[in-house]
Amino acid sequence: EPELAGDFGTLMEWADKVRRLKVRANAETPEDCRVARGFGAEGVGLCRTEHMFFDAARITAVRQMILAEDEKGRRVALAKLLPEQRADFTQIFEIMAGLPVTIRLLDPPLHEFLPHEEAEFAEVAKAADVSVDVLKRRAAELHEFNPMLGHRGCRLGVTYPEIYEMQARAIFEAAVDVAEKSGAAPIPEVMVPLVGTRRELELMKIVIDKAAEAVFADKGRRIEYLVGTMIELPRAALKAGEIAEVGEFFSFGTNDLTQTTLGVSRDDAARFLSAYVEKGIYAKDPFVSLDVEGVGELIEIAAERGRKTRPGIKLGICGEHGGDTASIAFCETIGLDYVSASPYRVPIARLAAAQAALAKK
Ligand code: PEP
Ligand code: MG
Repeated sequence: EPELAGDFGTLMEWADKVRRLKVRANAETPEDCRVARGFGAEGVGLCRTEHMFFDAARITAVRQMILAEDEKGRRVALAKLLPEQRADFTQIFEIMAGLPVTIRLLDPPLHEFLPHEEAEFAEVAKAADVSVDVLKRRAAELHEFNPMLGHRGCRLGVTYPEIYEMQARAIFEAAVDVAEKSGAAPIPEVMVPLVGTRRELELMKIVIDKAAEAVFADKGRRIEYLVGTMIELPRAALKAGEIAEVGEFFSFGTNDLTQTTLGVSRDDAARFLSAYVEKGIYAKDPFVSLDVEGVGELIEIAAERGRKTRPGIKLGICGEHGGDTASIAFCETIGLDYVSASPYRVPIARLAAAQAALAKK
């Protein structure tokens, strides 16, 4: 576990005295959370749950769930995943000891989970008690031409609400258990990905609240929690006023927001990016340093419209830009509440936040 000692530690203390922005970490493993805390993170700003699903011990159940023909089949697989998911969150809540933890519900392009090898299909067939042929047909049906614009984010939760229901259950069961054991009640912030309309978030909030009530009734104890959304589509930024009628916080997903605003694939930009920077079309790599004039304007619009509907709405950023010093200065200027960066960038983010606060004076 890293610690910031000596002169560097002193410098960080000075930085903390002047900065206004809170600094959180993007973390999804106990390891990440420990590193983040050691570096002074004040919470988890983004826990990406899809990474948990790749765990070798549960990928077969995940594949069984994705390849199931109907809700009943999905629920059988989800029942296997619930205890594992509960254990994931329990560990994170314990380490974060009462600090806020933003957990993002599942957001993968589905094809990432599909089996490829013959042996993988055979394993799923055995677990689900169906033939390999049926699974292969189903896998072929799931093929998408443009998965990043496809069946991912809350579209998954709208079509298969039982997935988000399982995750919400796991979050609240873990939170209540940890509150009971440690006395430091976790503060879960349940975050819905890839929202573009108020109705999407409303539907997902119903699923989440229902799971919360069921767990609180079972356990005879309630905890505080928030339900909010990523703002990572231009439409979400423009409709933030309506979305804030439902969402209790916004976190700007600037990776997808950059991709969708510029119409540039975040995975394929490398081929022309250096030419674009060289010829002055882009000032910098927009996936590293926020495109302030395009993406930044959408963020400003969303912050303004969100605040108008819900004064004081909690606003953060969790894309890669949350750890970039120039982008952090922009976040300070428009008055976001926190930035969230990868654990190893937390110290830089604390310094950049202080510098931005001083520059504003
Ligand atoms: C984002 O889009 O900025 C984000 C944080 O989510 P992800 O990178 O997981 O798509
Ligand atoms: Mg995203």
